[in-house]
Amino acid sequence: MKISKTTIFAAAAALVFALSAASCGKEVPQTQQSSESFSVAGGTVENTEATATDEAESAETTEAATEAEESGKLSGVTLSYSEAEVNIGQTLTYPYVYDTIDEVWSSSDEEIATVDSVGNITGKSEGKCIISVADKNEPTKGAEVKVTVKKSTGVEETNGITYVNGIMIANKSYPLPQDYNPGGLTAETNAAFQELVDGAAKDGINIYLSSGFRSYDLQSQIYNNYVNAYGQSTADTFSARPGYSEHQTGMAIDVNIIDDSFTGTPEAIWLEAHCNEYGFILRYPFGKQDITGYKYEPWHIRYIGKENAEAFRKEADKRNDVNLTLEEYLEIDSYYH
Ligand SMILES: [Zn+2]
Repeated sequence: MKISKTTIFAAAAALVFALSAASCGKEVPQTQQSSESFSVAGGTVENTEATATDEAESAETTEAATEAEESGKLSGVTLSYSEAEVNIGQTLTYPYVYDTIDEVWSSSDEEIATVDSVGNITGKSEGKCIISVADKNEPTKGAEVKVTVKKSTGVEETNGITYVNGIMIANKSYPLPQDYNPGGLTAETNAAFQELVDGAAKDGINIYLSSGFRSYDLQSQIYNNYVNAYGQSTADTFSARPGYSEHQTGMAIDVNIIDDSFTGTPEAIWLEAHCNEYGFILRYPFGKQDITGYKYEPWHIRYIGKENAEAFRKEADKRNDVNLTLEEYLEIDSYYH
């Protein structure tokens, strides 16, 4: 690994700059706000990383400075990073703001990436956009992050079936072939569900299977009935088009009462709290319709294996999100293309 003196100097300068800005908590004097010193400070993380593999670091610094000048409608604020890559469905932790401002975050294109009130950035679709933070009291004071959103790279296709990190996917983006038919729930799913039912019974909770495997043809009938009754756009919020149903995997189960009256019941609460222990996840959690493509379904669980379910649970804890979805976890999307 080669780190040039220039880079060390730039990093040190940026650190001093950042520390002085952070410790005094005031606006840095105007003389230090040239776009040059600014882009060096903002680009430090990227430049330091680039040096390990790329010797043309001085060229990159120049390029970064030029880009900063071009887009620089906001100035006077330094962030811990000024460029970022994020996968669809992934959320990046906010860049640290080294200046005391009344932060207002915004995205130049919310179809590509969104940003929350503290600066956490979420990838939505492939493309590039700018995430900005500005001072509420002084709208030209702020900084920008150039964001590139990419598709997850862990997606593999075998015989028309999509796997992400080894997990079979059936959602609105990744359908199953018409002839994919395991003939019922997979043996593993069946065994794991029996364990779940037994575990629930020990806690005085009665969980039973209402709908398990559904073939392409059966889903076709169900979906068409809903379309006839409610129209396609409404049907699409709760019923999968044939080929797109997770029930065709043989690893999805609807338990107990398959309607909103199941919400909040002791059975639903138990399922949400314990299904991970048996290798299942709640597939369509509350408040994630925009991500999963389906409204909240507390009765629909999906078997992903005990190890995966445990890792999923840990990731949910890490993100402090009890409603983590498989899409967010695997960094994939779910919408009809
Ligand atoms: Zn279901």
